[in-house]
Amino acid sequence: RAKQLGRDGVTAFVPAMREAAQDRFALEGDLRHAIARNELEVWLQPQVDHNGVRIGAELLLRWRHPERGLISPAAFIPVAEQSGLIIKIGDWVLGQAAQLSRTLTDHGQRLRLAVNISPRQFRQPELVSGIKHWLEASGADPELLVLEVTESLVIEDIVDTAAKMAELSTLGVRFSVDDFGTGYSSLAYLKRLPLHELKIDRTFVQDAPTDANDAALVEGILSVARHLGLQVVGEGVETPAHRDFLLERGCRYFQGYLYGMPKPLHEFLQDQLADQCSQEVTDSLTAPIR
Ligand code: C2E
Ligand code: MG
Ligand code: MG
Ligand code: MG
Repeated sequence: RAKQLGRDGVTAFVPAMREAAQDRFALEGDLRHAIARNELEVWLQPQVDHNGVRIGAELLLRWRHPERGLISPAAFIPVAEQSGLIIKIGDWVLGQAAQLSRTLTDHGQRLRLAVNISPRQFRQPELVSGIKHWLEASGADPELLVLEVTESLVIEDIVDTAAKMAELSTLGVRFSVDDFGTGYSSLAYLKRLPLHELKIDRTFVQDAPTDANDAALVEGILSVARHLGLQVVGEGVETPAHRDFLLERGCRYFQGYLYGMPKPLHEFLQDQLADQCSQEVTDSLTAPIR
């Protein structure tokens, strides 16, 4: 019987599963030390307005693993979420954002910085105090901080979500719903939260110019946003056709390879402050705050 199963690949699946579990376990062990060993890196991808002018950037994590090389967040964020390490990692990213924000405003550049907040990180009781701490320690302007949350967060525990969002909004911090349209949030819930923005998921943007269903979804999202008074960022804008499609339907902000790939923090800062500082100065600006 086992042989029979083996022939159609079912028995082969079990060792593969065990391997995946072991791999995950090893990754989790390594991730535990990643911050202390300086293996985590913040990369930034620009966001632009309808004129193509840079208005901000999204922070995207990368893990430079000593043996495995550069690991994408899609591979390790789920591990960080499940193990609870996301709380420490997420706090570190917030600190980086606050410090970078202060550095940029000190050089006369008011760019908004968007930070991804995972559900487990949002749920922890110290979320608000942690963000307040970084804002105070850095002197960053809270109005330049955008927290990207997921739709699942909105429906999971509306009371906790609303309370935390209200407190942070009072400080000036803004909220953006990431990958909008891929989850199950109800429009009624969206209305109850102090949201500033929706990000159209790139899977819709990708085919919108050629696929009638994706086109309808994008138009629907833009219409909902208009009625709720929210601004919209189109994600995954790779071609002028993507941009034009969004622009013609009222989308005013864009992010994607057409405008720039994610870049390491020091490179981003170097580009950003090219006229103002030497490379040594920009490198020194990214030294950590405590
Ligand atoms: P996301 O927040 O939706 O970020 C957008 C992703 O799309 C990024 O992938 C970005 O590199 C990619 N992207 C941007 N423009 C284009 C484009 O034009 N075409 C295509 N095909 N892709 C594009 P990345 O950097 O691999 O990040 C994946 C996800 O990992 C993020 O999705 C976010 O959910 C998560 N993530 C990244 N950094 C953090 C973090 O600091 N904390 C948490 N909790 N999650 C993070
Ligand atoms: Mg995001
Ligand atoms: Mg997104
Ligand atoms: Mg996405």
